[in-house]
This record gives sequence, structure tokens and C-alpha cells, in this order.
Amino acid sequence: MNAENLMRKHICEIGQKLWQAGYTPSNSGNICVRISDNEFLATPTGIQKGMLTPDMLLKLRYEPEKPEEERITVLQCTDPYKLTSEIRIHLVALAEFPQLNATIHSHAPYTQLFSMLGVKAIRLPDNFAGARNIPIVPWVKPGTWDIAYGNVEALKSCPKDKFVVMGLHGLLTVGRDLEDAFLIQEKIESSAQAAYLYQTYTRIVGDDAFVLNAPPAEAKADDGVL
Ligand SMILES: [Zn+2]
Repeated sequence: MNAENLMRKHICEIGQKLWQAGYTPSNSGNICVRISDNEFLATPTGIQKGMLTPDMLLKLRYEPEKPEEERITVLQCTDPYKLTSEIRIHLVALAEFPQLNATIHSHAPYTQLFSMLGVKAIRLPDNFAGARNIPIVPWVKPGTWDIAYGNVEALKSCPKDKFVVMGLHGLLTVGRDLEDAFLIQEKIESSAQAAYLYQTYTRIVGDDAFVLNAPPAEAKADDGVL
């Protein structure tokens, strides 16, 4: 099996993991991988990520130096599968970070919940993913170039792992490879889940239920979970 076909198979495996984890319910989410300088494989629109097969994937060329309407060329696409309108967020991010090769967009539920609450960030109890909090960028219409450009600015500000939570939408992660992009998905979603559980539990039960440890001397008053 050649390298492209192996990658097609691998994308389907990661799609299966995303769907089983509940990160891409129904037909949501997409995956994109760089296979050469300006060629990419991407998942089609409208397909559950647990049902992907290698022949469903689209092969694309992306040329960022061209006018927006001429940048994306579909090199190979099997009928009836079609390109997702969300492809721009993947291609613009991958073009911006040439050392990173894979993007995953999901609607992971806890991350999506916070994206819908109108908060600016999910504050973390620990220095997680190299960040003190998970920022959430304001809503921009999905499927546009503007949402893709806005995401890049947020991705540039990530000190370590590259991710962006899009307001009223979901999560985009950019990794060295698919495993890396998936790992960042897990980090962010598990952090959002922990923040949600912490908030819910402490508001219902309250501090009286606990014998509290003294906080570490270096902990600051504003270091708690949002
Ligand atoms: Zn989406």
C-alpha cells in the first residue's frame, strides 16, 4: 500500500476514534492531513466519522498565494462525496504552520457547551497544554474565510499545543500528525469536562462537604477553575 493509501486508512481510523469518543456526533466534525507541500486529504461533508472508508476522502491542492476563490482545487473526489464548507479552517491553519501536518475539528460536547455560554475562557486549575486557560474566540460565520483567518490569530497565541475553541461552534486542533491532533482534542475536552464537573459539584455540594487541604503557598487567589 502506498503512503497516500496508508494515510487514507489512518484518517478513517482516527474518524472512528473521534466518533466513538462522542466528539463528532451525527455527521459533525472533519479531518484534514497534509500529504505533500500543497496537497491534502480531507473528510467529506455529511458523513458520520465512524463510517468513513478510504475512497470517501477528497484529495485537494491548496495554493494560499492565489485569490480566495481559486485557492482550493479538488484533485480527486468519488461521487457522491463532497467537500465540506469547513475545509477553509483546516487549510488556512495548515498553511500557516508548515511544521504541523494534521487538523481535527470536532463538536466535543463539554468544549461545545462552554463555547455556547458566551465566556471568554475556561480557566484551568493547572498549567495544562502549556496554557493557563482555554480561550474561546467570538463567533464568526462557519464556512467563511474570515473564521479561518481569525482562528490562525488564536492559534499563533497558543504557547504550546495548537488549538482554538470557536464561539458557538466547536474545537479545532492542529498537530504534528493525526495522533498529536487527536491528543490535543482529548486534553481540551477532558479539561472542559473537569471544569464543568468542578463548577457543578462545588455549587451543589459546597465546601462544607470537604476537609480541605491548605492551598500550596504559590497558588494565587485567581488560579481556580472558572
Ligand atoms: Zn463544525
